[in-house]
Amino acid sequence: MRIILPALFLAMIQAQTPPAPAAAADPVKTLVERLDLEKYKATIKGLTQFGDRRQGTDRNRAAVDWIEAQLKSYGCPTDRIKYVFDPPPAGGGRGRPNTGLAVGGGRPRGDKIPTGVNTDPMKQPDEKLRALNMQPTMPGPREMVYCTKVGTTHPEEMYIVGGHMDGHGWGEAANDDGSGAALVMELARVLSAPDVKTERTIRFALWNNEETGSQGARAYIAQRQDLQGKENPPGSGQYPEPKWLGMIQHDIMLFDHGMPLPDGTMRKEQRAEADVNIEFQSNSKMAAESMKPAWIFEAANEKYATDYPAAVGPHMTNTDSGPFIDIIPAISLRENERGVQIGNGWDPQWHQPTDVYATYNDKDFRLGLNAAQTTLGAVASLTGATLNK
Ligand SMILES: [Zn+2]
Repeated sequence: MRIILPALFLAMIQAQTPPAPAAAADPVKTLVERLDLEKYKATIKGLTQFGDRRQGTDRNRAAVDWIEAQLKSYGCPTDRIKYVFDPPPAGGGRGRPNTGLAVGGGRPRGDKIPTGVNTDPMKQPDEKLRALNMQPTMPGPREMVYCTKVGTTHPEEMYIVGGHMDGHGWGEAANDDGSGAALVMELARVLSAPDVKTERTIRFALWNNEETGSQGARAYIAQRQDLQGKENPPGSGQYPEPKWLGMIQHDIMLFDHGMPLPDGTMRKEQRAEADVNIEFQSNSKMAAESMKPAWIFEAANEKYATDYPAAVGPHMTNTDSGPFIDIIPAISLRENERGVQIGNGWDPQWHQPTDVYATYNDKDFRLGLNAAQTTLGAVASLTGATLNK
């Protein structure tokens, strides 16, 4: 009897319990599941065919064209920002006053590896890649591309989801910022599917000239800030520049192998404790407003990201969300904190000839995918994404 009773009891329960109604499917979860590691890797790989994509070169312009063609193929209508980059002659660098703090604030800890930008072609051992990266940058006209998913009930309001497509250092800019640019393109692909609707608008921006001081993002602000929320033509229901609800930047997403070891080397594998670093800037006019999306993204990570957690920090700096910090809520997502971690040498490929696709393995790429899951989960929720049956 002792053996039979539980089975009998179970049978009685099953007989009396009506079939449970299917739990209402979470459309955001379905969308997040449309992200795919192999597709993300393929998009990064596609970007690396243009070498380091340095601004002001043919390889950079070819990359802008290629990105635009991909966005169009996803069904995401594109447009471009045109501007001129005429940098002052190099030299006479001001340098930062030594405050003991990292750039962006924050106190560095642990062992440090020196960082910098490689400018020596001969440090690239791959001759084909060296030749691809050989054309020097020239001052002059620049372009960047963006595409837009228009909201159904609030087309006049939008979130900007950005990553920078330019790089330097004589590698392939696979991580900085192929990984962030590909993340933005993958989100554009998923959210532009014909069965996806969002109440609010989302703009996917592939900034150019980040590495020279975010001139692409600055040009965007200069040209479009005053157009926000204006219906044009009047009565058309069209808003060429919806009101900016927030700016979410993605910059260098793959590599979190921990701090440098005491002997100046790095762990060979992604550390088990790897995380997605969500940063806002506490020293900005919109600090309180920016903290809110930072925590919304942290919660979206807990809900939707499959492998790696997120951490929130207050020292966002040196990326395209920077020019927005006093205007609108602005955050960035990264593999590490920019100031105290990357600034301390946590990413030895950063701006180096070793930032090539072949350097990374699936554990690295998966961290970038988890950042994509985080942003897709957060932005799809914030914009009221639904799926047509
Ligand atoms: Zn970058």
